[in-house]
Amino acid sequence: MPRNCSAHDYSALIRKWRALSKKTPLRVGKVSTPKSLPFFEVTNGLLSREKPCLYISAGIHGDEPAPCWALLEWAEKNHGLLQNFPVLFYPCLNPWGFVHNSRLDENGEDLNRIWGDVFHPLTEQILKRIEGLSFFLSLNLHEDFDANGIYIYEPYRGGRPDRWTNQILQAGKKFLPLDTRKRIDGKNAKNGIIRPRVSHPPKEGVPEALYLFQNHGIRNFTIETPSEASLEKRILTHQAMIQESVRLATRT
Ligand SMILES: [Zn+2]
Repeated sequence: MPRNCSAHDYSALIRKWRALSKKTPLRVGKVSTPKSLPFFEVTNGLLSREKPCLYISAGIHGDEPAPCWALLEWAEKNHGLLQNFPVLFYPCLNPWGFVHNSRLDENGEDLNRIWGDVFHPLTEQILKRIEGLSFFLSLNLHEDFDANGIYIYEPYRGGRPDRWTNQILQAGKKFLPLDTRKRIDGKNAKNGIIRPRVSHPPKEGVPEALYLFQNHGIRNFTIETPSEASLEKRILTHQAMIQESVRLATRT
């Protein structure tokens, strides 16, 4: 994050992405939605239906700023790597919430519960954009005010746990400890891992992760850092966990 701006400076965030796109093949595109601040997508021009893509989104909850800066800083350090495969990033899906430090958007809506609604102004745009695309890895970056450490949601539809989940947590543990709670958000958790059943989506609506998992590729992780830790550490932790996830997904 630039030293001279606040964690919720949306213009600075987009300015930095634009600056990065000038030096690299990354492209920043504006996505307009009615009655709302535009949000942005970042691609590298390789997106196609033929090749699986890396999808990462952040800032769907506006009071979770660290991942937005972490994704930017990680991309700044890894733009060379990002020329090797198609990428689609959404650096901040809830710009109004980001500016106002609000989990919800300006209509009081939780944008992480609307992914079953194809006519919502946000999902309408994204669902159209990702139609026919497959993701070799999708990451949804979040933070949690109740957390005492880092944790990951790994969608569960039977079978053994994904070995990668623990490896990703180990990378994050260099900066912040694992969440020690046995129950997180009403679900069982063990060693910082929650495996929500794909067949039991939240009653309030479909989250982004579940939609992506069911429609675009089964390797999906929702990565969480504790909001009460220092911003700098949260940014470093997210970067480390993005780095490890992508390393695991792209090693040959
Ligand atoms: Zn969140």
